[in-house]
Amino acid sequence: IHAVSRYKEGRKTLGPSTLPLNSFKMVAVLVTGANRGIGLGLVRQLVKEPSVDIVIATARDVGKAVDLKAIDSPKLHLLKLEIVDEKSIAVAEKKFAGIVGDNGLDILINNAGIFNKARLNEQFSKDLVMEQLEVNTVAPLMITNKFYGLLKKAADKKGSAQVANISSMAGSIDFAPVMASHPTPTAIYAMSKTALNMLTVKLSLEWKQDNIRATCFCPGWVKTDMGGDNAMLTLDESTVPLTKLILSLTEDHNGKYFRYDGEKIAW
Ligand code: NDP
Repeated sequence: IHAVSRYKEGRKTLGPSTLPLNSFKMVAVLVTGANRGIGLGLVRQLVKEPSVDIVIATARDVGKAVDLKAIDSPKLHLLKLEIVDEKSIAVAEKKFAGIVGDNGLDILINNAGIFNKARLNEQFSKDLVMEQLEVNTVAPLMITNKFYGLLKKAADKKGSAQVANISSMAGSIDFAPVMASHPTPTAIYAMSKTALNMLTVKLSLEWKQDNIRATCFCPGWVKTDMGGDNAMLTLDESTVPLTKLILSLTEDHNGKYFRYDGEKIAW
């Protein structure tokens, strides 16, 4: 009870809490782009999970994150994070460390993303391509690197830590011929997700000795601002199983690519 009331204090101020961090194995999860869409859906599910103690939800503008602030849970902390800004990442990492202390970061969910649409036969700008790659590929790399120390702390203390990259079927080279019939042009978005998939595999190999795992996921085609109203899945239909899947990952999932329902995706 004492710990819960301290959580509440910490949440109100959004500052460092004074929890008795070493007294038990606290599990902390970070979700980027959590103010709307799939990130918001994941946070809604994560706070309900008994195995999760702290959920750090990030948004570019916490003040405007009304749906996120409407989630009533003592587990929830909100942090400002603009994922393409290295200073913002550094500030968020410091604040995160203040909240979780020696327990580190158990699960990092790189969810925030954008979908820039352009046909390859159009005169699209280099800026559009660079922005696509910066947000969907470079930013998850910079964030994951910056949080390495906190992931390692959790892995050392609790056996393992996990990076969960929210990719897309669009990033599957095998699936590209199927995507070709899609009315929306996906080329530069797909490139950004294929590169994110490779980053996932590289992390899974390079950080294996640290017991930090990395896995990538397609959340399905989901009704969000990005997915649109015609998408196949509601937010819950995607994020309920996806949350369970992320929380149940083992060494067998390391460096692999899964759908939200656990089905393996061909690269
Ligand atoms: P939305 O467009 O609904 O939400 C995107 C989220 O990412 C928002 O919270 C947005 O914040 C955040 N974001 C974008 N750019 C930045 C940035 N530079 N810094 C910080 N936050 C940023 O998308 P979805 O929820 O649908 O998608 C989430 C993830 O799932 C993405 O990676 C996407 O590629 C992937 N995905 C989605 C599918 C779908 O059908 N919806 C299908 C396959 C994959 P803000 O509100 O400030 O813009």
